[in-house]
Amino acid sequence: MNPITEPFTRRGLSVASVPFDAVALHEVEGARTVLITALPYYFPTVPEQNLARFAALPDYHRYFGGILQEIAEELKEIYPKFYFKPFTDNSPIDERKAALESGLAVKGKNNLCITEQGSFIFLGEIITDLETALPSPSVTRRCGTCDRCIQACPGGALTENGFDYTKCLAYLTQKKGELTEEERRLIRANKLAWGCDRCSEVCPHNQGLETAPIALPPNELLPKLTIADVEGMSDRQFRKTYEHRAFAWKGKATMLRNLYILEDADRE
Ligand code: SF4
Ligand code: SF4
Repeated sequence: MNPITEPFTRRGLSVASVPFDAVALHEVEGARTVLITALPYYFPTVPEQNLARFAALPDYHRYFGGILQEIAEELKEIYPKFYFKPFTDNSPIDERKAALESGLAVKGKNNLCITEQGSFIFLGEIITDLETALPSPSVTRRCGTCDRCIQACPGGALTENGFDYTKCLAYLTQKKGELTEEERRLIRANKLAWGCDRCSEVCPHNQGLETAPIALPPNELLPKLTIADVEGMSDRQFRKTYEHRAFAWKGKATMLRNLYILEDADRE
């Protein structure tokens, strides 16, 4: 087995490579290659869940970052003359472009990267000054003639011609300030306080998935928030209490606005 892919595959992660210059957003001195990988995060939802899966999880940056750090250290032992720098999200490259150009994923009509393990994934990478080209992981997934995500999208954000983020519930629930009555109606009708997984849930490439390790104990899931959980907190307390959740950095006001919108639904 290739000594670069082995530490990834041993941890159940697929990996592909792409030249750094092909996907760079910022300069990293000496960087030659991006080793791009994907962390699965699927888990079955519970009744009354009002947070999309990525928001219900503990902070994936710490979890995934720890795994990538371990892999980077192993690679450094094998190639001591080269550096290996792990990144998750806060990265000097375009991660989506790297996943698609490397062959790690194909682009779905739901605007998501579909890997061999589906599209409930977080992207992460190791950047190195080692020049290498890994064999393509040969993703067998294809959209083809399917249009399930387009049919299922509650906001009409998906069409055969592309993705309109302004109609997407994942965007609307995170948008600051006042929402239009139509935007509020969409949140209410879909009972979502943060994010939306609908176009992923219906995708044939996400059927039969097993619960990912990041969603297993001892990691704690937070499937639902209520007004009572949030209302009495200052913005600072909110950010501190939920500091390891994907929604915390947006602050209390946007989440509380969404919870009020949902409560209106409960009163109807
Ligand atoms: S996340 Fe939800 S609203 Fe956004 S495109 Fe997918 S199904 Fe549509
Ligand atoms: S639901 Fe169908 S069209 Fe949409 S991303 Fe999945 S395979 Fe592609």
